[in-house]
Amino acid sequence: MVRLRSRLSRSQNTLGKGLLTLLSREHLDEDTWEEIEETLLTADVGVAPTQELVERLRARVRVLGTRTPAELRALLREELLTLIGTDLDRTLHTESPLDQPAVLMVVGVNGTGKTTTTGKIARVLVADGRSVVLGAADTFRAAAADQLQTWGERVGARTVRGPEAGDPASVAFDAVKEGIAEGADVVLIDTAGRLHTKTGLMDELGKVKRVVEKHGPLDEVILVLDATTGQNGLVQARVFAEVVDITGIALTKLDGTAKGGIVVAVQRELGVPVKLIGLGEGPDDLAPFEPEAFVDALIG
Ligand code: GDP
Repeated sequence: MVRLRSRLSRSQNTLGKGLLTLLSREHLDEDTWEEIEETLLTADVGVAPTQELVERLRARVRVLGTRTPAELRALLREELLTLIGTDLDRTLHTESPLDQPAVLMVVGVNGTGKTTTTGKIARVLVADGRSVVLGAADTFRAAAADQLQTWGERVGARTVRGPEAGDPASVAFDAVKEGIAEGADVVLIDTAGRLHTKTGLMDELGKVKRVVEKHGPLDEVILVLDATTGQNGLVQARVFAEVVDITGIALTKLDGTAKGGIVVAVQRELGVPVKLIGLGEGPDDLAPFEPEAFVDALIG
């Protein structure tokens, strides 16, 4: 996991190394516990999970007595994993239970990395020998369909698009129809993320969803969140979660931020597992979210 480690280096410095250094102090006084709390909050772990973690660490450190670096590392690893959760279903469901392509809808606010993530998911699937159709249902942003098509050409997936400023739902419908006609394995639908008003968003995404579901149930609705937007991202996430049933989160731009703790906050807040993480702008910079590998990369 060398790559994960190097991409998460900023979070590693604050969260992993920062916490281990603080916990290694000879006297763990109130000031130190406050610093630990601040470190977690700065890394966007969120208020409630931070308090929970600090309480658990305090209790465990108390019974430890002397603390060797190896003991502290093991303890922190265990507690971070408990916080993140190791028993959630983080599989990206790309097989339909029906005899038709799996349909995945990708939602999120513009700029979070929706189109890029859609392209990267397609890349993983195509590399795995699956045939993929992309649906450019973000008809609002003029360049979005071109951007998705470029990704499609890059990774070997066909893009279905409609007229500029056309109806997103009809593009989504056509993409699924095409996918079925071609016998594709997976249809990925990139949607528009206009957070103009909640009703506007609800109308638009709700319609895309309803129309797609004429062909059968959606297999995944992935919410893309930009890790660098911290608590703001959480507010957006809540709005989306009210509009559609999110089945998984893709957390992007973890490579450029020290706020890796947002992984904990988002899934706690939404009750939905983080399934994918974005670690850069390139086609291979997407990884399944594996708590153990993530925590190991954080604490070095
Ligand atoms: P959309 O408007 O949500 O579809 O966002 P885009 O897919 O156009 O992405 C917005 C910007 O974020 C682009 O410059 C992407 O290259 C960049 N981006 C997306 N994912 C990541 C990531 O995981 N890491 C980094 N560093 N940049 C990313």
